[in-house]
Amino acid sequence: MIHPHYQPNPPQELQIFKHLASRTNLSIEEKLNFEKLCKGYEGEVEFYQVLQKNPMKNWIDLHSLRFFDGTTEFQLDHLIICPTKVYLIEMKNYEGDYFIQNGNWYTAARKKEIRNPLHQLKRSEIMLRHQLQELGYNHPIESFVIFINPAFTLYQAPMDLPIILPTQIKRFVNQLNRSGTSSTITEHQKRLTNLLIARNRKQSAYEKLPQYHFEQMKKGIICHLCTNFLSIHGRKKLICESCGYMENFYTGVLRSILEFQCLFPNKKITVNTIHEWCELFQTKSFIRRMLKKYLISVGTSRKSTYYIFEGEREK
Ligand SMILES: [Zn+2]
Repeated sequence: MIHPHYQPNPPQELQIFKHLASRTNLSIEEKLNFEKLCKGYEGEVEFYQVLQKNPMKNWIDLHSLRFFDGTTEFQLDHLIICPTKVYLIEMKNYEGDYFIQNGNWYTAARKKEIRNPLHQLKRSEIMLRHQLQELGYNHPIESFVIFINPAFTLYQAPMDLPIILPTQIKRFVNQLNRSGTSSTITEHQKRLTNLLIARNRKQSAYEKLPQYHFEQMKKGIICHLCTNFLSIHGRKKLICESCGYMENFYTGVLRSILEFQCLFPNKKITVNTIHEWCELFQTKSFIRRMLKKYLISVGTSRKSTYYIFEGEREK
């Protein structure tokens, strides 16, 4: 399987939320948004694992694409480019019992109507068709919603809906696999893939990130496994009192620098800032040594020196 764009890394937005959850107090709405992003990402990873177990030669699998159609933004979970067609796949990580009545979707427990996922699918398909036409491609598109969560049940679903239920996923992937064996991916499809990747917008205009400032955040080094802060253990180690996780100073500080950079991409990495960010160390000498060893220093005087990672451009 070719997947030039395929790494199930958590989206930036989710990473930011994760850091903020430990260092700030998220509002209820922000917590819900965070939870939704987590669920979406878990579904993504789950589907990735299914694809890993059924590797194929004649697919190009693109995921988490974001395009603009005029001024409207739309996001596609998966685009599988086969020799003869393009499969558009939307993932849903719904859990629990749902039912369909007169074309409307409801939760079984409270009979609360939810947004019909097939409407969103249709809308995405229309927009995708526009994109392909603009690029000069007329591949047929087939669209599906995949319900990835094994704890999802859907009652009263007509059999002809373009949905794949948890118990059908393996079969669906096998079918795709079989349909791809008759011909191979050509330069034509590879070119289309590159054009789509070039159009992909990494950041959404609608990302609902909470407001946050360096000054008001809790400082310290967060545990790699849970959400607690680490404390110093002996002369070289950090320990999590909650889960027992241990690591050395270097990796702990390095993780914190990456976290700092993710949250504040426009702030400079300096000895003072990282010292304050990690909080644990009484003097700045370890932070200075560590920055000198792993990053590249920019600036001439000690006062104006800041650090960048190798390969990064100077700010
Ligand atoms: Zn921990």
